[in-house]
Amino acid sequence: MKRGGYCAWHKGWAEDVALAVVIEQGSGPGGSAYACLPCARPLTQRHDAPEMLKQAVAEMEARAQQPGQAS
Ligand SMILES: [Zn+2]
Repeated sequence: MKRGGYCAWHKGWAEDVALAVVIEQGSGPGGSAYACLPCARPLTQRHDAPEMLKQAVAEMEARAQQPGQAS
């Protein structure tokens, strides 16, 4: 069974997503939404990036390093 889900940032399916809580100002989704790794990565560079988001991205990074290990 494959992980995956809808990424609210690029508005499409992604092989791996994590719940990202980000408060956007103006454009983009606010509150919490699922983001894929390529979309979540830059979010962690923000000065106000929540710790849980950084952790979620780190977990996705780790999963991305292990193709075929998914259960
Ligand atoms: Zn995405």
